[in-house]
Amino acid sequence: MPGFTYLSTRGKAPRVESAEAIVRGIAPDGGLYVPSSIPDIGGQLDQLIGMDYRSLAGYIMALYMPDFGEMDIRNAVSRAYGEKFDHPLVAPLARKGGAYFLELFHGPTLAFKDLALTVLPHLLKAAAAKLGIKKEIVILTATSGDTGKAALEGFADVEGTRIIVFYPEDGVSRIQERQMTTQKGENTYVIAIEGNFDDAQRGVKDLFNDSQFNKRMEESGFAFSSANSINAGRLIPQIVYYVHSYLEILKNGGIGPDGKINIVVPTGNFGNILAAYYSKKMGIPVNMLICASNENNVLYDFINTGIYDRRRNLVATSSPSMDILVSSNLERLLFDLSGKDPRLVRKLTGDLATKGIFEIDENMRKGLSCFQGGFATDSETFRTIKLVFENYGYLIDTHTAVGYNVYLKYLEETNDRRPAVIASTASPFKFPGSVAGALDSRYCGMDEFKLIDVLSGMSGIKVPESIAGISSREILHRKSCRVEQMKDVVASILDISG
Ligand SMILES: *Cc1c(COP(=O)(O)O)cnc(C)c1O
Repeated sequence: MPGFTYLSTRGKAPRVESAEAIVRGIAPDGGLYVPSSIPDIGGQLDQLIGMDYRSLAGYIMALYMPDFGEMDIRNAVSRAYGEKFDHPLVAPLARKGGAYFLELFHGPTLAFKDLALTVLPHLLKAAAAKLGIKKEIVILTATSGDTGKAALEGFADVEGTRIIVFYPEDGVSRIQERQMTTQKGENTYVIAIEGNFDDAQRGVKDLFNDSQFNKRMEESGFAFSSANSINAGRLIPQIVYYVHSYLEILKNGGIGPDGKINIVVPTGNFGNILAAYYSKKMGIPVNMLICASNENNVLYDFINTGIYDRRRNLVATSSPSMDILVSSNLERLLFDLSGKDPRLVRKLTGDLATKGIFEIDENMRKGLSCFQGGFATDSETFRTIKLVFENYGYLIDTHTAVGYNVYLKYLEETNDRRPAVIASTASPFKFPGSVAGALDSRYCGMDEFKLIDVLSGMSGIKVPESIAGISSREILHRKSCRVEQMKDVVASILDISG
């Protein structure tokens, strides 16, 4: 019987164990690694109720990473979800009406990516040790804002690794940029790209697929890995908070007659909502997965029509971490919907690369029926922030507001009153300009760093330690380049220029 392994969505790479999938980041055929089967915990839910976050994380991660030692996983989990988080529950739920805001922003960079990126470096180190890899691991990442900082925090001064982050110059908030450019750590590199997130992501993908460049790196003692959401080591930790949320609501008697919840996820690269989909496949009773987009509503169209069409202009919105036209993780869903048919995945991803568009067949569309797509414009997003603050005295950020706005529309359309978990992906303090401006127009255009204190005063919430005083911290990274220069920049950082 074949054991639990990871296979490539494109079917032209060997199956590997989880350690190798994590070290590689992306499969050698350009595909994404997916688990060969999804563990079913549907029969064990009663036993899992009341488990604290760390224990549950260890339990679930071990199911997906059976090749790791128990100690490796326990070590990774306890280092990640300890004092780095400013809330003892790690990912607490805030109930407002029938909605449960799942606060995923209590980590070091105030966004949900911390839940995975605080764990990944430890998994990666353990994986490299297991595989006998002596090379220095180079983490190469394109960021729409939040990944970059979360990865920098996770990997800073982790021995045997270097981290290089590219971010789109005009695609991140000033706070996000400052969080990155003030990053400490001998092994950290931050470079601005003249272009948008898709440009940066494409540049990084090209580097990963450049076999000549990879060979040159290997000969110099380096190996690429990725901290982007395509890494299986990011996907797995994200499943945990959906399972945990369900169990918490169940424990507190919040589940209705049919036992199901809905999950709403503000979506960009489709990583976070894919984790929610996996939790459903694991046996968590989820009715609908509500995929919320901003004005870059490619996924909304896809869910409603079966056609994915990226041939449109990227719009810069107030939820920049979702300003994405090519959602990399969708490939994992396509693989699943196709009945694990790599030929079909190659056809679809090939169409997307060459024509900018693909269409799935009727059969695959059936699998989409548990998804509901919606989107919110910027003005709807701002109105939602104000509405939630007025109704509940609760501050939400722009990304969370996109999710909640789409949820309200869903509610109006369906009157589906099942408890809804709203993935609250960033702290309002991370986007103070938009959040304060939404509450009162006289704050529009004011200095973002000042508005952090304004928000704190209005909400009575203390400014999170990780951004308090950020405007006066020393800027340590000032490089910028064009997409075509990314290879040269990496080569010069690693001192392997030809
Ligand atoms: C990354 C990010 C998202 C999008 O998550 P995906 O997994 O890429 O869909 C949403 N909100 C915030 C705040 C983010 O940082």
